[in-house]
Amino acid sequence: MEVKMGYREIIKSAIDAGREVLPEHEAYQICEEFGIVYSPTRFATTRDEAVEAAESLGYPVVLKVVSQAVVHKSDAGGVIVGIASQTEFKEAYDLLFATVKKKVGDVAIDGVLVQKAMPKAAEVVVGGLKDDLFGPVVMFGSGGILVEIFKDVSFRLAPLDRDEAMRQIKETKAYEILKGVRGAPPSDLDALADLIVNAAELLSAIPEIKELDFNPVFAASDGAVVVDARMVI
Ligand code: ADP
Ligand code: MG
Repeated sequence: MEVKMGYREIIKSAIDAGREVLPEHEAYQICEEFGIVYSPTRFATTRDEAVEAAESLGYPVVLKVVSQAVVHKSDAGGVIVGIASQTEFKEAYDLLFATVKKKVGDVAIDGVLVQKAMPKAAEVVVGGLKDDLFGPVVMFGSGGILVEIFKDVSFRLAPLDRDEAMRQIKETKAYEILKGVRGAPPSDLDALADLIVNAAELLSAIPEIKELDFNPVFAASDGAVVVDARMVI
């Protein structure tokens, strides 16, 4: 049986190892302790283990590279989405390694994440940082290119309650999309607000975490799910 580490152990072992960024699967373990919902994920270090993980999660799955040398996984060819069968999975696994090698060279790869593919939904960003003056601050905004082009983000001091998180969501242009456009169902705003509250709680509770980035969060009609988690210590 897999023994799960608590967040104190995770942080301590990362500091001892001199790491600045937590491995994504360890970031999810911390999420779990704070009630933050994430896409079911398994970490694997061999091809066989990865295949087994995909089988047990059930297709479709997403495959992601885990390497300290790779920050933006998709830029490095390190994310393959929509894998629908074992045959496709094996091809994707080999392609992932070949592409990462081609794009970033012979870097050390710790393993892969096999993640349940989430149905299409509005993609938003929940983040956080420790401000020198204000302390923990939680951020919410549009996902994808919108966040870069429109700088559509709003900030709050952490911790905060659900009403405040709801006001934070409503301040952004993302809210217009989350209300439901062109026949798309509205997103579950309560779940999204809870996720912001929990992220703020996490930031306030763990002084070692300097930066937090859930990018994206899938704001579905029946829940809000983190599919990429980055924590800087
Ligand atoms: P990066 O390190 O490049 O930010 P991500 O883990 O965010 O890598 O994945 C890149 C993109 O792939 C995401 O923005 C999202 O659109 C899509 N994606 C990632 N994980 C999933 C998933 N579990 N289900 C569906 N789509 C996903
Ligand atoms: Mg991402």
